[in-house]
Amino acid sequence: MSEKNSPAKKLKEKLLMQRKNAVSRLTDEEIAACDNYCEGYKSFMNSSKTEREAVITSVAMLKKSGFKEYKPGKKLKAGDRIYRVNRGKALLIAVIGTEPISEGVRLCAAHIDSPRLDLKQNPLYEDNDTAFFKTHYYGGIKKYQWTTIPLSLHGVIIRADGSSVTVNIGEDENDPVFCVTDLLPHLAAEQMKRPLAQGIKGEDLNILIGSRPFRDDDESNSVKLNIMKILNEKYGIIEADFISAELEAVPAFKAKDIGFDRSMIGSYGHDDRVCAYPALTATIDCNAPKHTVVTVLTDKEEIGSEGNTGLCSSYLEYFIYDLAEALGSDGRTVLSASECLSADVNAAFDPTYPEVMERNNCAYINRGVCITKYTGARGKSGTSDASAEFAGRIRLLMDANNVIWQTGELGKVDEGGGGTVAAYIANLNVDTIDMGVPVLSMHAPYEIVSKIDTYMAYKAFSVFMAD
Ligand code: MN
Ligand code: MN
Repeated sequence: MSEKNSPAKKLKEKLLMQRKNAVSRLTDEEIAACDNYCEGYKSFMNSSKTEREAVITSVAMLKKSGFKEYKPGKKLKAGDRIYRVNRGKALLIAVIGTEPISEGVRLCAAHIDSPRLDLKQNPLYEDNDTAFFKTHYYGGIKKYQWTTIPLSLHGVIIRADGSSVTVNIGEDENDPVFCVTDLLPHLAAEQMKRPLAQGIKGEDLNILIGSRPFRDDDESNSVKLNIMKILNEKYGIIEADFISAELEAVPAFKAKDIGFDRSMIGSYGHDDRVCAYPALTATIDCNAPKHTVVTVLTDKEEIGSEGNTGLCSSYLEYFIYDLAEALGSDGRTVLSASECLSADVNAAFDPTYPEVMERNNCAYINRGVCITKYTGARGKSGTSDASAEFAGRIRLLMDANNVIWQTGELGKVDEGGGGTVAAYIANLNVDTIDMGVPVLSMHAPYEIVSKIDTYMAYKAFSVFMAD
């Protein structure tokens, strides 16, 4: 009897879960479609290094596709395409459905902030004829990864007169870049003995920004003075203006294909723009949905979703309430009937570091978008843990529409852990589950994702929105 027709093989197919590389389940044309989709993603990444820039890029894409800015109180009807910006750092988008809004909305939530080095409020100093910016890191980073790489500077400064100036330097080919220095190995014997977490300390993350003193000045601090003179000429600012600024140093790398087969993308900030871009493009491509579609691209997830641009605040809830009122329902009814995909990344299995993963319950690159029933740490602390019923509904929906997906949790039990915005949305009485793209080297300056998985996130969100 040939292997092909063996009873065991038949029974295996019927009873056991298949965990295959997506390439074996896709045609060449389908793989080409994944690769093609990711060209748009790479260019989105190169113009969206911060939450503010992701909002600007997204709004430009929305406007091109007929979305209009929404002011509360305006009337709404089926087919309307609207958005609202929250303080320049978070974005709410909706496509009004044909069903009454009391049937609930299809909510998709991703975050557009990423780990980085923020400038302190009094950042500029000089030491031994070199000028630096002091930083305070944002989000969970391995500090040693942020030294000796080119950094660009992005953000906004509010001047003493209340006017604002935008900063974006280090991305253009002709721009200078900035850098955190590190010790040479020859003199690092003591440093190298320290545990990895303390090899580079928080106060060592000082960004080198200049070394030439102001001419004709024998006073101290003339390098600092010279830098301030340049900044004054370029941005019209004085030193005290840093107090009212948000300046973020991020890797100056561009998004690039990884591998001889170009199957992956390396970039800063895949977490979580690799879910934000699919959520955004799925919303743009969503026409006349049954249920009203709401997509939120939020800020502050990496520091716990606090603040009025993070999802612990009420801004999403208020938006849903506004939509409910404009469409003749009430917020409580709408939220209670709603469903949400919390679109955030998961860790991909890394063959170099297999010991932190439990192989039967972790995500692998190229096995599709990852459904994560619960996140959290220890005994499922800090997670919303989706119900079997909702997990079942999403699984059925994905299978019925040929979305390639897998399931995985973040590492071994008690190995560590992490959270997403799922818990905060579930707190609004919304059925919520995590779904996103597996990432290698998560939170590093250069993270890696698979093109097929990225496209499958787009397909999954599209199917959910259309249902
Ligand atoms: Mn994330
Ligand atoms: Mn993260």
